[in-house]
Amino acid sequence: MAPKAKRELNLSEFPPGTITEYTTLVCLACIFDIFTKQLGLAPRTAFSEVKRHTPTIAELTSRGATRPYFDSEEKNPHCPYCGKAVRWVARFDTYCIEGGKTTDGPRRALLKKLPKTDDQFLVMGKKSDSRAVFFEWLDTLGHSLELDDESWLLEATRKYLERREPKTKWDDVFAELRSVRRSSRITEGWERDGGRLFLAPGLYSEALLIQYLVSRSHAHGGMTLEGRLTLMELIRRLRYSGYLDQIGITAREPGEVFEKLIDHLAATHEWSSVSTGSRSDRVTISKQKAAKKKSAKKPAKSRKGKTTQPEPEAVITEPVKLHYLVDRREFLEKVRSVYASYAS
Ligand SMILES: [Zn+2]
Repeated sequence: MAPKAKRELNLSEFPPGTITEYTTLVCLACIFDIFTKQLGLAPRTAFSEVKRHTPTIAELTSRGATRPYFDSEEKNPHCPYCGKAVRWVARFDTYCIEGGKTTDGPRRALLKKLPKTDDQFLVMGKKSDSRAVFFEWLDTLGHSLELDDESWLLEATRKYLERREPKTKWDDVFAELRSVRRSSRITEGWERDGGRLFLAPGLYSEALLIQYLVSRSHAHGGMTLEGRLTLMELIRRLRYSGYLDQIGITAREPGEVFEKLIDHLAATHEWSSVSTGSRSDRVTISKQKAAKKKSAKKPAKSRKGKTTQPEPEAVITEPVKLHYLVDRREFLEKVRSVYASYAS
């Protein structure tokens, strides 16, 4: 990919963390080979078919690409299947925009500005949910961090805060920051003191969770600002710090607690918590007051059967619409130049 060929879209109107970018490379020799040899098309027909071609969303966004697609970090990538040089390698750039209150306006404005001819840009929609979106976000975050260098802990924290509170200028807040700590003074939000950023206990707990999720491996747990923790250790900390109570998780079994934590994290973001319809679409966490009331009462045997149990936490995954914008400009140019001989 020549630097001059990269025509950036202006995405500055979108809140951070609402767009995921993917690049998929395709070998034009391989794809032409597939159309002529496997599908039996004549070269001319194959050329016009290739020109119309757009990979599926799965092909554009998966990390395990198969022929004729591939991923490469090289500046001048070669086809891993047939060895053809960069001249034969074309690129699709895909932008996955999370639908919602904060992105609908900028998305419509962006689409209006794009060229309409020759399908230079394609838009595809997909229904998803807050949980899937959250895992995709985590996966992208994990790939963008250098886990060997401990500064990633601060970077992961910043990305989470950006996702959670997109209107704050986190770049400024994190400028020359040395550490992130749990605050014992504030119960909500954050405050900066010198080189340190203090997070309210709830936020701090969530930062730990994100760090755990990004770095976890099955055998060794995950890295956090509080060192390497197994899932059990992490849950214990969250319980003792009062975080589980705070968000209304009463489950005891670690697997169940973990699932509820994921649902909670996935659902607490502005674009997914926007009310789009009935209240049942939204996150509802029952208050745990009933349980406290019960324990404060005298243990009267005759009442035992009537004791009201707290309602189970109902955390419902929220629907999210994903908008995939595929930039085919570079692909179209390459196809034209490489297949010039067939078209003439
Ligand atoms: Zn190839």
